[in-house]
Amino acid sequence: MQRADELAPTAAFRAGPVAGQLTGSALAACPRSACSGRWQLPGGTDRPALTSPEAAAEVLVAELAGADRERCLAALLDTKHRLLEVATVSVGSIDHTFMSPREVFRDALLANAAALVLAHNHPSGDPEPSRDDELVTRRLVRAGELIGVEVLDHLVVGGQRWVSLARRGVV
Ligand SMILES: [Zn+2]
Repeated sequence: MQRADELAPTAAFRAGPVAGQLTGSALAACPRSACSGRWQLPGGTDRPALTSPEAAAEVLVAELAGADRERCLAALLDTKHRLLEVATVSVGSIDHTFMSPREVFRDALLANAAALVLAHNHPSGDPEPSRDDELVTRRLVRAGELIGVEVLDHLVVGGQRWVSLARRGVV
C-alpha cells in the first residue's frame, strides 16, 4: 500500500493544463551540458523532484527545443521522483520504432530508476501528439508496469511548447 505523500506527486501529473511553454528563465537555467546525451547530476538531496509536467518540462523541453531531428529523452527518477539522470533513448528516426520499450527501459534499469518521464520533439514545431504517440505511450506504460518502472508522463515538444500525455489522460 502506498502512503498519501507517495501518491501526491503522481496526482500532480494528472491534473492541470494539458500544454505549456517554457519561459526564458527556465531556458537559461538549463544545464547545457545535458545536450550531449547522457549526463548525471551529483548525488544528494538537492536533485530536483519532477513531480509535475511543468517540472519535467523545465528539464526536458530545453534539451529538445530547437533540435532539427527527432530525439527521445527519458528523465530517470528515484522513488521520490527526484532526478537521477537524463538519458537519450534514441535520435533521428521518423517512425516511432525509436521509442521501443527496449530502448526506453534500458537506461532506467541500469540506473535503478523507479519512475521516468519521457519526452520527444517534433522538429516541425507542432507539439500536438500523433495517434502513434498515444499508442506507443500506452504500450510503454504497460511495459513499465510489468518491470516496475512507472511511466509518469510523456511530453511531446514542439519548439518551446509541450503537451502532456498524462494530462490528456493517456498515461
Ligand atoms: Zn511524436
